[in-house]
Amino acid sequence: MRLVNACLLAIFMVASVFVVRASGIATSLDRWLWEARFGVDHRPVSGEIVLVDIDARSLDSLGVWPLPRRLYGQLTDQLASLGVQDIVFDVDFSAASTPEDDLIFAEAIERAGIVSLAAFVQKAGADGNSGEVVNLPQEMFLQNAWPVVVMVPMEDDSRIWRNLFGFEISGTSELSAAAFLGNYSGTTSGAFGLDYSIAIDQLTRVSLIDVLEGSADPSVFAGKKVIVGASALELRDLFPVPVFEILPGSVIQALGAETLLQNRAMTERGELIALLFASVIVLLLFLTKVEGWQVKVGILVLAVISIEVLAFGVQRLSPVLVPAASAYFLLFFAAVGVILRELGFHKVLSHIATVRRRNSERILGQVFDDSFDAIVVLDKDGNITAANQTARKLFLDEMLTGKPARSVLPAALVEEAEIALGSDKNRQPAPQILTLAGEGTKRRFIEFVVTRSDKTEVSRNRNGDFETRAVACLTCRDVTDERESAEQLRYLAQFDPVTNLANRNELERELSRKMKLANDSGQELCLVQFAVSNFDQIVATLGFSYGDRVRQAIASRLKSHLSQRTTWAAMSADVFAGVYLCETDDDRDLSVIDKIREIIGEDYTVEGARISVQLKFGCAFSEGSIGPEDILKRSGNALAKVRRDDRKQVIRFKPEMGTALQRRRKLETELFKAIARDELSLAYQPLINLEDGSTFGAEALLRWESREFGTVSPFEFIPLAEENGYIVELGAWALNRGMKEARTWQERLRLSVNISPVQFSRGDLVGTVREALERTHFPAELLDLEVTESLFIDESEDLKFHMEELKSLGCSFSLDDFGTGYSSLGYVANYPFSKIKLDKSFVRQSLTSKRDIAIIEAVLHLANGFDMSVLVEGIETQEQARVLKSLGCPMGQGYLFGKPMSSTDFALLVSKAA
Ligand code: C2E
Ligand code: MG
Ligand code: MG
Repeated sequence: MRLVNACLLAIFMVASVFVVRASGIATSLDRWLWEARFGVDHRPVSGEIVLVDIDARSLDSLGVWPLPRRLYGQLTDQLASLGVQDIVFDVDFSAASTPEDDLIFAEAIERAGIVSLAAFVQKAGADGNSGEVVNLPQEMFLQNAWPVVVMVPMEDDSRIWRNLFGFEISGTSELSAAAFLGNYSGTTSGAFGLDYSIAIDQLTRVSLIDVLEGSADPSVFAGKKVIVGASALELRDLFPVPVFEILPGSVIQALGAETLLQNRAMTERGELIALLFASVIVLLLFLTKVEGWQVKVGILVLAVISIEVLAFGVQRLSPVLVPAASAYFLLFFAAVGVILRELGFHKVLSHIATVRRRNSERILGQVFDDSFDAIVVLDKDGNITAANQTARKLFLDEMLTGKPARSVLPAALVEEAEIALGSDKNRQPAPQILTLAGEGTKRRFIEFVVTRSDKTEVSRNRNGDFETRAVACLTCRDVTDERESAEQLRYLAQFDPVTNLANRNELERELSRKMKLANDSGQELCLVQFAVSNFDQIVATLGFSYGDRVRQAIASRLKSHLSQRTTWAAMSADVFAGVYLCETDDDRDLSVIDKIREIIGEDYTVEGARISVQLKFGCAFSEGSIGPEDILKRSGNALAKVRRDDRKQVIRFKPEMGTALQRRRKLETELFKAIARDELSLAYQPLINLEDGSTFGAEALLRWESREFGTVSPFEFIPLAEENGYIVELGAWALNRGMKEARTWQERLRLSVNISPVQFSRGDLVGTVREALERTHFPAELLDLEVTESLFIDESEDLKFHMEELKSLGCSFSLDDFGTGYSSLGYVANYPFSKIKLDKSFVRQSLTSKRDIAIIEAVLHLANGFDMSVLVEGIETQEQARVLKSLGCPMGQGYLFGKPMSSTDFALLVSKAA
């Protein structure tokens, strides 16, 4: 990994060097450094060279420019006379002046014999594209003088760093003025670096005018090399240079000569060495374990300093310019890298990481604290290291954290945690249930799971060492409520919540169990069901809560007195069932039931109210191989039967009952098809005026001629239809058919139609009657609706309202079968009856009983008082008719006058009588 990183680093270094070099930054820095090094170093001039300066003062004194050539001739002569070694003119003599002056100068040159003249090449046009113009001195001057090149190459920083050795002008290589003056004897091509550490400002400079006027010190010139050039600003022969900022071209030539004379022609060398050195340092820093960014940066700075000291030393001792900038950049980048990494980057990264960590810690902490589950973390020593809010609530301790688990958590939990801590980490955690016996409160169920995790810790003393420690995490949930509701549900699935007796389902299960037992032991099984037949009345009079209390009281008697051998169940609100094995012969007869009746049948006292219950018992024995369902059905049949039987309290199932029940079911299905199959008809029984024996109307009575069962009595099918609600359809049919047939009768006769109470409660009787009247056009005032007393058991405002509505249509009401129920006439008078039909039971006997006569008289009297007329049903004999007539009974009905007959027969009968 380190190697890869080192390679990457190397690539980075090479790339960075390449970039800084290509961009020119390195060169700029190098030049800056060289200049600085030159500035620090100080090298005196050789004194070999003297500058005759065409300075501002000279120009001022002479007053012309260009100077007349003869002045140059004069100068040459004077210098020669002063014994100078060489004279170099850095003056342009390429153009001719006056022939006399040119001649004077040419002769002076010839006389002196030591003159060199400036030659240079310059760009022809201002745009620099039009070729070069060679400026050589006039031919006449060159006959006795040497041309020397005076151009200086300008670097891209617009400064002069180098001088030429020479230059090829018009096919001949000419030395530069500097090379000539510097006694150079090598090739005349190329350039050399100028040594700006030479104090060229200390060059001996003599003003031209002083020389011409002879006021200059002659000793200055003896044996020296003289360069004549312009330093006057207006002559514009000035160049920007390092160290000295601006130098005239002639001084630069002088510096070049000095550089060569002192063997200081500067070359650029050592860049690679510096770079290598820097690279090595960086690589070493990287590869070796150096701690601390300051140290690293220190090392890098030190490297820079040493390179610089070395470079300076080299430059000072030898004419070598070391381009160390690239190396410095490399080291600089490395330092920046170190600083970024150690200070900035690393810190920023660690800061980001810290913020992130804190965020997730906060979120996790919140989640931890808000968790529905109680979470407790235990360390190996059994101390709680963390606990959330739910845990604090669950274990009723405000400060769990930091406490020994054993002191605050249930021992079972702590033990489990310890087991988990001691086990290997791959152990699969499994949820368990812990029951806590609450102090004073109810017991609680805690579901919990223990998981083991390893926590990594960085120990401070040992560098970067990680230590893992196991912790146990206890996740607990109070499942008391769930458990309780589950138990409750389970309980409700098996038991009746009011009586706490088994429910129907549980009884069936018990039956199966007991039945198996019975089969195995060859015993019989008895299932007894009893109904509190007046339960509805109890609830109606005392309210539901009393109903529940009665049921509870019955259940408690069952449990305390009769539960030894019998399993009891509550089948519905008013029905209880018990199942027992018949162990003795007594069990097989009904003596067990007698005992039950005796115990349960006694009156109950509920909140001071004395309540007596009417019980009906049905039972069945497991005769033959029957299953639990059959025995349930059988005892149910027996109970249904006994409930319909006013005279009996106990009925034991007999196979015929099954057949009767089957017939009932079949009848029911057949009855539903009766209307569609046109099996129904109406029979009409005449209604008679007893006074004159005339027929004033007829009662329509339903007849059913079933395909399957033949003639079925209304006493059988009407209650059936009332039970299943089909009576609403049957009643409507009877109304329509009755009125339709009555319309065929010649005479204007009344029609009585029987109406079942169910038609009031379930159907829209008013609508039905209205529709039938409209459809058949039967006169409403001839219609009597017969209703029985049972209608008035529940005293309803609705009933009265409906009756009034029907009455408003024009119909009348007759109270049928009066005397079979319990209603008093005074009570009945509240309803709009116009007729009372006294039940046939009052006339069945010979009507000699004084009691019967008294009742009839009383009814007649009272009815009269309430403005109702009376009809007596079931008159079969003339005697009965006579007695009733004598009592003042106005109307009668019975076989004596006519049995129920077809509509045509009835019409015939009436027309005959008329
Ligand atoms: P109910 O309305 O009291 O009808 C009179 C019943 O007494 C009729 O029996 C009739 O045949 C019978 N009867 C009449 N005169 C004598 C007599 O002199 N001696 C004896 N022993 N019986 C006599 P039925 O036709 O069997 O009807 C029985 C009951 O069925 C009716 O009693 C009535 O409550 C009901 N019923 C008949 N047709 C309808 C109907 O269309 N709708 C409703 N809701 N009930 C009806
Ligand atoms: Mg009737
Ligand atoms: Mg009747």
